[in-house]
Parts: sequence; C-alpha cells; structure tokens
Amino acid sequence: MEKRILIVEDEKNIAKVLAYNLKKEGYDIDIAYDGEEGLGKALSEEFDLILLDIMLPKMNGFEVCERIRRTSQVPIIFLTAREEEKDKILGLDTGADDYVTKPYKQLELMSRIRANIRRSSGEVVTERRTEAAGVITVGELEIDTEHYAVRKNGEPIELSKKDYDFIAFLAVNVGKAYSREDLLKEIWGYDNYYGDIHTVDVTVCRIRNKIEKDTSKPEYLMTKRGVGYYLCKR
Ligand code: CA
Repeated sequence: MEKRILIVEDEKNIAKVLAYNLKKEGYDIDIAYDGEEGLGKALSEEFDLILLDIMLPKMNGFEVCERIRRTSQVPIIFLTAREEEKDKILGLDTGADDYVTKPYKQLELMSRIRANIRRSSGEVVTERRTEAAGVITVGELEIDTEHYAVRKNGEPIELSKKDYDFIAFLAVNVGKAYSREDLLKEIWGYDNYYGDIHTVDVTVCRIRNKIEKDTSKPEYLMTKRGVGYYLCKR
C-alpha cells in the first residue's frame, strides 16, 4: 500500500512543490495549511509520516508535535527555516524524530523520509534490540527493553522515543564505542552522507541531563576521544 504523508506548511507554494515531489516518489499526500488543521488531521487520520513546519498560523509546530505525541508515535520531521529554529528543535524535548532545514535538498529529504518510515515500521534497530530483550542493568541504570523504559535507582526517567533508542542501543552493546556516523546509521537509519552529526551530540547532551549526576563528569554516557560515545560498563 502507498505510504501516506501529511504536510503541515502554511506557505502554499512550498507545500505544493513538496506534495508534487513526494507524489512522484509514490507517496499519498495530504496537506494542512495551519497548525490546528494539521493537528486535526494528524489525530483523526492515519499517516506514515508527518512533515511539520514550525512557524504556522493558529498553532506553532512545536505545540502541534507535542500534542500529537500524547497519543501517537508517528514519525515527525520538522521543516525549519533558520539555524535558530534548528537549535531550538535540538534543545527541546518535543518528541520529533528529525528536522530538515529549508530550502531542503530533495535527495536528502527523500532519504530521511524513507529512513524514518522504515524505522517506524520496525524494520531497522528493533530487530537487534529484541535479541537482548529483558532488563539491562548498568550501575544504577536499568534499561527495560520489553517496556521501552529507563530507570535510575528504580525511578523512571522520561525519555523521548529517539533518546530511548539511543541509550538502549548503547546498553545492548555496553562498553563498545561508536562513532557519530555509526550512531546516525544505527539509530536514525541514515547513511553517512545525509546525516548531521550535530544531532548525535545534542542527543547525548539531552540524555546526560537526565541520567548523570554531574554532566561535566559523566559516569554512564561517556565520550571516547577521537572515536565517539559509549555506555560505561559498571
Ligand atoms: Ca511557515
């Protein structure tokens, strides 16, 4: 069956060109021109992915994303116009899966759409994860791969799905360091060419804020100089 994508974008020309290009790739497309309409469609219909602009009339993209996430894990890619919006996305815990900066590059956007749909349909990382299903204990941390939960000293830690995927992947492979490029490939499903390694650093930063006592002296999520990141065996 055709995969359905919802475009939420108030600039009609951008939305139409995007829709045209996506239809050419074989996707079924719906468009919403403001935040409220986008949220309404997202909640009442089934989509395989949502492309979400940030500056929207009636309700901004961050709020739309947050509201969708209360009930749905549909992949969401933010379309951002500016560097500062990009920084905001990376810093915020809105639950978006990814972002693409406008004016977007056609090949890059298509690659990311494919990767996000593939991953959410369970074709990527999840297979590896089920091999180690159960609770992985690393020091005071418990990564519960059956319930997609992380606890520290028994207290639940709230993580977005992507942040959970990140720490679960490192936990399954505890002690082994991965480069940013490897992590982009394993967790975001990107080939090297299209990823933005900054995404990995910001994800690490956000997770450290939640699990480390002192983020300047991490005890769990470690940096391996010149290599990348790993979860420390304890
Ligand atoms: Ca806009």
